[in-house]
Amino acid sequence: MSTVSLVTGGNRGIGREVCRQLAERGHVAHAEINALARLGADRHYEDHTLLTTLEPCGMCHGAAVQATVGALAYAGADPYGGTGDLVFCTPQARRRPLRLTGPLPDERGRLAELLHIVWLLQMPAGRHVLAAQQAALPAQAGLAGRPRTLRLFTEAAAARAPLADLRSALRGTL
Ligand SMILES: [Zn+2]
Repeated sequence: MSTVSLVTGGNRGIGREVCRQLAERGHVAHAEINALARLGADRHYEDHTLLTTLEPCGMCHGAAVQATVGALAYAGADPYGGTGDLVFCTPQARRRPLRLTGPLPDERGRLAELLHIVWLLQMPAGRHVLAAQQAALPAQAGLAGRPRTLRLFTEAAAARAPLADLRSALRGTL
């Protein structure tokens, strides 16, 4: 799992989802898509926000526009596939502008980036993908490569521990 996404609106969460790329062996089984797919087509969702751990790829960014959510907030940067700076210029996107914020400039953002890089190392991702992470996020990439970090994430995944537990275990190193 590299991403967790949740659509919120009206003080409630709709469609918390995780990335299923490995479990379902599909390139498009991203958590954001899975969460947005839970929204019905009977209304628009300008009053809803897509919360996600990682900067969205182009597909998920476009899906947020298509799903009519009003905002997308992400925690960590993805220097390889992230499209946080992308502006859709279609009439549809101009009619319902998506407010996009991230990455978080604190340990929550760095934890999301670390989570993603650990996942990339386990895939394993191509050298060019890892090189982009190393160039833009050297501290997180270095931490992700340590055996202790991999052991910590492996144990947390097996125990289905919440992100807050990982954040506590990594306090002072993020
Ligand atoms: Zn995506």
